[in-house]
Amino acid sequence: MENFRIQDDLYMHVNSEALENLVIPDDKPTAGGFSELSDAVEKIMMDEFETMAASKSYPNDYLKRACELYNLAKDADRKEKDGIAPALKHLAVLDEVKELGDFSRLYQTLSLHGIPTPINIGVETDMKNTKQRLVYLQGAGVILPDASYYKPEMAPQKEQILGIWTNVAKMVMTKTDLTPEDQEKYVNDALAFDEILGGLVKTSEEWSRYVEMYNPMDTDEVSEMLSTLDFKSILTELFGRVPETVVVTEPRFFGAFASVLNADTLELYKHWAYVTGLLRSCSYLSEELRDMGGMYMRAITGVAKMQDIDKFAYNLASGVYSEPVGIYYGEKYFGEEAKRDITEIVYQIIDTYKTRIKTNEILGEETREKAILKLSKMGVKMGYPSKVRALYEKLVFNTEDSLLDAMIALNAVRELDTLAQLDEPTNPENWAMPGHMVNACYDPFVNDITFPAAILQPPFYSLKQTRSENLGGIGAVIGHEISHAFDSNGAKCDENGNINNWWTEDDFKRFEAKVNQMIEQFDGIELPWGKVNGAFIVSENMADNGGVSVTLDIMGRTEGASYEEYFYNWARVWCQKAKPEFSQMLLAVDVHGPCMLRANIPPRNFDEWYTTFGVTENDKMYIAPEKRIVIW
Ligand SMILES: [Zn+2]
Repeated sequence: MENFRIQDDLYMHVNSEALENLVIPDDKPTAGGFSELSDAVEKIMMDEFETMAASKSYPNDYLKRACELYNLAKDADRKEKDGIAPALKHLAVLDEVKELGDFSRLYQTLSLHGIPTPINIGVETDMKNTKQRLVYLQGAGVILPDASYYKPEMAPQKEQILGIWTNVAKMVMTKTDLTPEDQEKYVNDALAFDEILGGLVKTSEEWSRYVEMYNPMDTDEVSEMLSTLDFKSILTELFGRVPETVVVTEPRFFGAFASVLNADTLELYKHWAYVTGLLRSCSYLSEELRDMGGMYMRAITGVAKMQDIDKFAYNLASGVYSEPVGIYYGEKYFGEEAKRDITEIVYQIIDTYKTRIKTNEILGEETREKAILKLSKMGVKMGYPSKVRALYEKLVFNTEDSLLDAMIALNAVRELDTLAQLDEPTNPENWAMPGHMVNACYDPFVNDITFPAAILQPPFYSLKQTRSENLGGIGAVIGHEISHAFDSNGAKCDENGNINNWWTEDDFKRFEAKVNQMIEQFDGIELPWGKVNGAFIVSENMADNGGVSVTLDIMGRTEGASYEEYFYNWARVWCQKAKPEFSQMLLAVDVHGPCMLRANIPPRNFDEWYTTFGVTENDKMYIAPEKRIVIW
């Protein structure tokens, strides 16, 4: 085994042995790190589901329904008997779309039957007044993993991946009742419609700038943009009235909408909706179709085989009933003592940010006060919520139905519930993530952080680990999430999560200069599977840098602190092995940078890294002092 000096490659020094032994499971694109914890939670909860389903004894009604859905999803014989029929039944709604006017008339019906449409109408928090909600308008999804693949310079990858998709689509289409000529035509039309969408919808990089989604417009104006539709009658059907304002999240797409859907492209749309809708349904059909439908995704992520039916059923059911499942997991597997300890760490980190901001050189006095106010008002959600939100009462399905019918019914409940909330105030008590999810987040529009119980485990956190290890693990992740309040998106929202400029012009200029430095620190780094786009991942990199900065500050004040333990655990949490296809796709769709860069780049911005390991200009993990970036 190759020997990696820590001064040259922290990530490999700490993880090379673990990486050598890691085996990526056949049904997953990655192993190690976050996915190792997820797999462990999955195993625990699958056993729980099995026990509950077998004994027919459930802790509550939500878990009963989750187990019923689990049973339905793993009933291979039942799904085999239903075959493709449930999908064809829902797709038949498309037959009623004979002319353009029918699309507007049937918009909601199509949507509730799970049929893809080129416009998507939803209800979300008003980003300028986060106590209330507005109607949001979004475009369609594309066949390729991201709209950036439709740029001319990506032509070779595009052609290769679309080739895979075309083969899969054609294979699935042979199972329908269409003639071979029609099957061929439908797939070609779907590709032609996708080509129109691909040039207009937003790329992941564009979506990563949240604030740019917020383009509230007068409904009359939006109606004019969508001149080929009867937009107001669609809204009336959804809301019983025409709301005054609509937020257009994708101005480029909707500006050109008349060229997307019109009398000439209606047939292309219908065939696109049929083929992509059918492929989307495949997971809920027979095992043969589930296998076929998953081939495209598996090919582009390098996954060898589909999930076995039990795992699939568990993931489906625990996704639909995620909040109650997360509460069950949290109550049983996450102790009160750990919750107290971790909450204490969170407030220590928040306080440390406040102290650091008081002397921050890029902010003037006035802006510092606003930043501190934002920290003071930040919500903290640790572990799992105390109660299940009302929506789950309504998430019922008929156990006699086919799995696809059940899923469509459940999604319809969700969709109608969301639309019905347009005039309801938002609820900051809602959790953004369930307790059994191995992840964490900051919500810029609520100004809160969420740490589900499932991430509060080793190597991130344990009462048995040293304080230094916990600071390099969960501490830095907590610091990361809090730092999102001041990344390139968060900086544009105030203490209530409203888009609001609380910066003086000079302060913001200095801040932007730092943002640009951070873009440069990562931009263009060559990896075996492609080049890093520094602008796309800048928010996450700023957050990592903030997380390390604030926890190193605490380390400096912690008795008996060990910087070795701190940096080792920081590197350990990023240990991950991934299929190259998957890593390549992430470069285009993931706002987070590749794991080894997240482990290796932030430390070199801090003095503690150099003093702890004697790193000098002769080492690979050295950068000149003037290139080191500390923002918060
Ligand atoms: Zn983040």
